[in-house]
Amino acid sequence: DKTQNPKPITIIQSTKMAFETLLSPLKVGSITLKNRVMMGSMHTGLEEHPDGSSRLAAFYAERARGGVGLIVTGGFAPNAAGRVFEEGAELVAEDQLDFHQPIVEAVNGNGGKIVWQILHTGRYGLLENCVAPSPITAPINFYRPKELTHEEILQTIEDFVRCSKLAQKAGYDGVEIMGSEGYLINQFIAKCTNKRSDDWGGSYENRISFPLRIVERVREESGEDFLIIFRLSCLDLVEDGSSFEEVAELGQRVEEAGASLINTGIGWHEARIPTIAMMVPRAAFSWITGRLRPHLNIPIVTSNRINDPYVAESLLRDGLADMVSMARPFLADENFVNKTAEGRPEEINTCIACNQACLDHIFKMETATCLVNPRAGHETELNYETASIPKSIAVIGAGPAGMTAAYISAMRGHRVTLFDRRPELGGQINLAVKIPGKQEFFETLRFYRVMLEKYGVELKLGQTVDAETLNSGTFDLVVLATGVKPRELELDGIDHPKVLSYLDVLDKERVVGQKVAVIGAGGIGIDVAHYLTAQTPFSGEVPEYLQGYGILDSEKALALRKPKKREVTVLQRSADKIGKRLGKTTGWAHIQTLKSHGVQLLPGATYLKIDDSGLHLRVALKKGEEPKDIVFEVDNVIVAAGQESRRELETSLRKAGFDVHVIGGAKAALGLDAKTAISDGAELAAKL
Ligand code: FAD
Ligand code: SF4
Repeated sequence: DKTQNPKPITIIQSTKMAFETLLSPLKVGSITLKNRVMMGSMHTGLEEHPDGSSRLAAFYAERARGGVGLIVTGGFAPNAAGRVFEEGAELVAEDQLDFHQPIVEAVNGNGGKIVWQILHTGRYGLLENCVAPSPITAPINFYRPKELTHEEILQTIEDFVRCSKLAQKAGYDGVEIMGSEGYLINQFIAKCTNKRSDDWGGSYENRISFPLRIVERVREESGEDFLIIFRLSCLDLVEDGSSFEEVAELGQRVEEAGASLINTGIGWHEARIPTIAMMVPRAAFSWITGRLRPHLNIPIVTSNRINDPYVAESLLRDGLADMVSMARPFLADENFVNKTAEGRPEEINTCIACNQACLDHIFKMETATCLVNPRAGHETELNYETASIPKSIAVIGAGPAGMTAAYISAMRGHRVTLFDRRPELGGQINLAVKIPGKQEFFETLRFYRVMLEKYGVELKLGQTVDAETLNSGTFDLVVLATGVKPRELELDGIDHPKVLSYLDVLDKERVVGQKVAVIGAGGIGIDVAHYLTAQTPFSGEVPEYLQGYGILDSEKALALRKPKKREVTVLQRSADKIGKRLGKTTGWAHIQTLKSHGVQLLPGATYLKIDDSGLHLRVALKKGEEPKDIVFEVDNVIVAAGQESRRELETSLRKAGFDVHVIGGAKAALGLDAKTAISDGAELAAKL
């Protein structure tokens, strides 16, 4: 239901504000949670790892110690057909409880509460034998699901019950029944995936009997003191999904069936509307939780793109929910709640919703971690212990690699001086924040500024370092984090005045013409195209001003208000689809945005020369056509054709006798991003 206008959210700005609502206890059934912060369910990949039990125990224990009110585990399947993939985690037998008891003990031992998520993937399972209410293949899967028989449906309900009983036996405080994001339960509820003509399909009443029966049976078997959370899909964001009235009815019926708490789910995995990416505004979907709340008597949890305690507190104060779920923010900072409660929210390492190290890792079958916190998921391996011998360290370059190495080294007890030739901290992050939808990187800059100050790192900004500048007696070792420079393109006419580099555009903010070709379709090329097409050439007030003084009549002023969009073409040498190498979970959304801005994307280009008439190249303008020689009559050619390490200093520093450690872009430019830069800095600093 997109017709209802969301209520504007009060944003509380004062740092003095106590987060009293967020930190107040919440009674759920017979259990009292110490605050209203839930760590939402996240599959970390450790669920299937050989050391998964001990690593998850350490992972969750740190979050429990960090003060979170309630933890929800990653999803485990109630039977083989419900797994995420062949080796996917399931809980079907008592002998699997050994995996879980250490997790429960670790959380309870640190004052936390933990519930277990039961997730049946249905037609999303990457399994040859995946099942669904009807045999309709999901757009994001290649396996056609088998239609469940009546007997199999009854058995699946009992499998949920068995799974819940096992979770209770392991000591979990409750279960979360995953009824959203387009998984099996959702597939029963929605018309688009349930075409059955028996008692489980047809009318809404029939379609919701599967989830209602599960909740009833789980409650029957678990007794009153066990938490049952139902994750309810409040917005399906797919055609023929549930209406708001249907969602509200299901919420009420789930409550009657015995649920203790409703959690909000937004958007099926196959939906083509971004729901958790950085470009999604904070708390963009909490209005729907707020709309549902008056229909229920049990508490309701809001979720999606909430990463900040001020926003979380505001949502509760505005009555949009009783509790706030944040998942990725607990990868970014295990101490989110304690920092909030202790009045130091500025120290929170904020999740920037990039998905680069969490969801993108899961899709690559790698352990989830976090771009801004490489310790996440690696609590047993990467630790920042106090240094036995404090050293004096010079870090050259205050990009993410250098800032990370500097603050962690200082936190460990070293004396650290951080140099940058620029007057500000942040390196290329200062360019990233200029891209529309990437403003969350400002939080990363804030976090580093606060950490560097907290741990007493001496800042020497505006100082270009060379071997002479560094006094060899002063430092025991040098960390070289000087980043990258643009790779130069060898092309006839590359010195033509039409040619700009991405640094000219983003850093020097040079004027760019109306028609533009961008050479290079990596992350930065795509970002440049986004930056150029999102810009409005003049302020929205100009037409009113001109009209007010009679300089233009209203018709002409109106025409001005719709300035002609910049015409941008993004080119790449490789014949691969443009965007293929962007992040799995967000790349599609970036490409979708560019297309909506009219950006042309052309792979397989051979660049010939640049002259007064523009960019000469050989390319196929349409898929399947033969490439031909053409001239793009553009005002500017912007080069974003990769980067090279900036590590010239290394040799002279070594010659001068310094012990040099090279990290981040200075070490390797290929495949560089903030994730590799930060993890490089952290791994080095942990060892120094
Ligand atoms: P840099 O950030 O380049 O920092 C190096 C620093 O060293 C600079 O501040 C420089 O001034 C300083 N320096 C160099 N030489 C000297 C010297 N001799 N003396 C003193 N100081 C010196 N990555 C992501 O993961 N996700 C994104 O969404 C993302 N978006 C981006 C968008 C844009 C537009 C750009 C340009 C980059 C983006 N990146 C993104 C990439 C990311 O910012 C870089 O990979 C990362 O900043 C590299 O970190 P670094 O510390 O190695 O180097
Ligand atoms: Fe958040 Fe990005 Fe970390 Fe994922 S990798 S938790 S999205 S900051």
